[in-house]
Amino acid sequence: MIGAGVAGLRAAIQLAKVGSVLVVAKDSLRESSSEYAQGGIAVALSDDDEVALHEQDTLYAGDGLCDAAAVHRLVEDGPAAIEELIDWGAEFDREGSKLSFTREGAHSRNRILHAHGDSTGHEIARTLYCKAATLDNIRFESYAATVDLLTSESGSVVGAVVFDAKTGRLRSVRSRAVLLATGGLGRVFKETTNPDVATGDGVAMAWRAGAQVSNIEMVQFHPTALHIQGVPRFLLSEALRGEGAVLRNRMGEAFMDRYHEMRDLAPRDVVSRSIVAEMRRTGSPHVWLDLTSRPADFIQHRFPRIYRTCLNYGVDIAKEPAPVHPAAHYAMGGVQTDLDGRTGVPGLYAAGEVACTGVHGANRLASNSLLEALVFGARAGSSMRGDTAQAQDPDCHPAVLEPDMSEATVRALSWDDCGISRNRIGLERALEALGNVSWSPTEQLSVASLERRNLVQLAGLIAAAALWREESRGAHYRTDFPEKRAEFQRHSVSSPVPGSPDRRPWIADS
Ligand SMILES: Cc1cc2nc3c(=O)[nH]c(=O)nc-3n(C[C@H](O)[C@H](O)[C@H](O)COP(=O)(O)OP(=O)(O)OC[C@H]3O[C@@H](n4cnc5c(N)ncnc54)[C@H](O)[C@@H]3O)c2cc1C
Repeated sequence: MIGAGVAGLRAAIQLAKVGSVLVVAKDSLRESSSEYAQGGIAVALSDDDEVALHEQDTLYAGDGLCDAAAVHRLVEDGPAAIEELIDWGAEFDREGSKLSFTREGAHSRNRILHAHGDSTGHEIARTLYCKAATLDNIRFESYAATVDLLTSESGSVVGAVVFDAKTGRLRSVRSRAVLLATGGLGRVFKETTNPDVATGDGVAMAWRAGAQVSNIEMVQFHPTALHIQGVPRFLLSEALRGEGAVLRNRMGEAFMDRYHEMRDLAPRDVVSRSIVAEMRRTGSPHVWLDLTSRPADFIQHRFPRIYRTCLNYGVDIAKEPAPVHPAAHYAMGGVQTDLDGRTGVPGLYAAGEVACTGVHGANRLASNSLLEALVFGARAGSSMRGDTAQAQDPDCHPAVLEPDMSEATVRALSWDDCGISRNRIGLERALEALGNVSWSPTEQLSVASLERRNLVQLAGLIAAAALWREESRGAHYRTDFPEKRAEFQRHSVSSPVPGSPDRRPWIADS
């Protein structure tokens, strides 16, 4: 398993029933998006909810690009996946003896479970980690960054090349099957809510190994990351707006009614673009998120982590609004898989945010991603049990190449030209700059250098797919094609150009 977030841990538990499992993580075992997930996990378990309604809301948010079978699996398997977690010790918040559900944007029912107020991801990861630790067959290695996948002559994946950050050494790990559970790619962009490990390594490695990458242009930008100079872009969960927080401009006016009938709870892409428009209109570097209408003790109890973190950065959200700005948050696209986590490459699986199962389509419904990581992590773990072939000797692993573009440059370019609003001129400019990058063999491999390679390749994949999609749909917004177009109601599929030495992306006519 490459990755120790919710998807990797859940898959490992499933697979450990039949064989030995190695889980590697690039940083400490706790450094993952899963650990930082605040708002909650969506599941149709409340008395007034139904699986069919959760399905309907997910399809609506996905804006015509969801894979209906994948959505059905997600919502149908969701309740059992949560009950299993509770059996394993997960403590979700309750009102009396009943589970407590809250509402987030574009959900038609209160269906978001949360834990310790706003530490839902941490509680789920803790539960899975404790469960995994009881199983003899699972071994963990932290600070082990996978550089590339090992492939056999026939093209199957037979293991991975791992860089040990402590010793500075590379080593090959052979295995019967490999699961990519490497999470998201937010760090491709200058502004992101994601932790530093989210550099899209899994997508880049899979793509280099010949797997197809789908809908990679679909990046969700979260409207409300804390915006204070020199401070990480800490996420201010949508649940704050679910509990009554209001976006205000520099004059203190609540402005969302000017942009959408659902006001502050409109879909995330709408809110993000509205904030950018309002910042431009009022000449302000950010807007404000105001929860001061709620009592201080409610805020401290319901959002303890957010409250404490903001206070550390000098903002008391019980007394004053917080400065916020949109930031890259979630990748709907990724390595294309079937419902059992299989990619098109034998021996290679993917689950969680790195994968594109099609459940999120063009836009993710809030809090569906932890559920996806649980449900499809378990399914991938089950299907990997069928991979009983002995690992073959790898052909060899290719030299690691390094780009001559700095991380800051690629992140700024992605933000400016492939970000919240895109157009042909900007996307072509980005592709030209990325096409001019020179690649040379790495002299001294480090985690930073391998990440930089992946960031540059991913920026190219995103720009190419965003240029191909001449429409606006879900999270993808083109100022030169502001409408949805029927001929683009299909997934983008990127593959390396066959035979091309620089492996430039192309978009298959899917
Ligand atoms: C701030 C924040 C808040 C969020 N809130 C919510 C929420 O409330 N509800 C919700 O449903 N979703 C939320 N999300 C999204 C959700 O947390 C993620 O989509 C989900 O946790 C992804 O799980 P994962 O297991 O796929 O990846 P992750 O949890 O990100 O785990 C990735 C793992 O892969 C490892 N890794 C990466 N690259 C390599 C490499 N090269 N070699 C070895 N290991 C590697 C990392 O070290 C890590 O262990 C939030 C995300 C963020 C960033």
